[in-house]
Amino acid sequence: MGIDILKSKLKEHGKRITPQRIVVYNTLKESTIHPNAEELHQEIIKKHPNISLATVYQILNLFEDELRIVKSISTNHIKHYDIRSEFHIHTICPKCGEIEDIYSDKIKLFWENLIEELRLKPEDQIIKIYQVCSACSKKKEI
Ligand SMILES: [Zn+2]
Ligand SMILES: [Zn+2]
Repeated sequence: MGIDILKSKLKEHGKRITPQRIVVYNTLKESTIHPNAEELHQEIIKKHPNISLATVYQILNLFEDELRIVKSISTNHIKHYDIRSEFHIHTICPKCGEIEDIYSDKIKLFWENLIEELRLKPEDQIIKIYQVCSACSKKKEI
């Protein structure tokens, strides 16, 4: 998803294309983790110290609720944001809340077949698998 998608989505919803919105979008796109708002803000202020955390929250809500170009996954009651639109599933560590992406054509095909068979019309879909991450399971062994 390129910046053009953001621009056309903003136009479609009657919203202005602002530098802040573009910065939030690009930073989220470059992020390799699934950052929460604060983590994303920390990253943004490295280059754009004038953007406040409140602005980041506002823009994330806009992206998620209105434009629907971002999804959130809650772990330990904190929203983590994901901009990747390709089908993937998430493993979430119940201890530390770490989220990892898993891409699988097999699961994608299975999922698409299931949706067709059950005649589902999902507006959104997030598949989450809870499992203790490798770092946390190592901690237990000590
Ligand atoms: Zn963990
Ligand atoms: Zn993801």
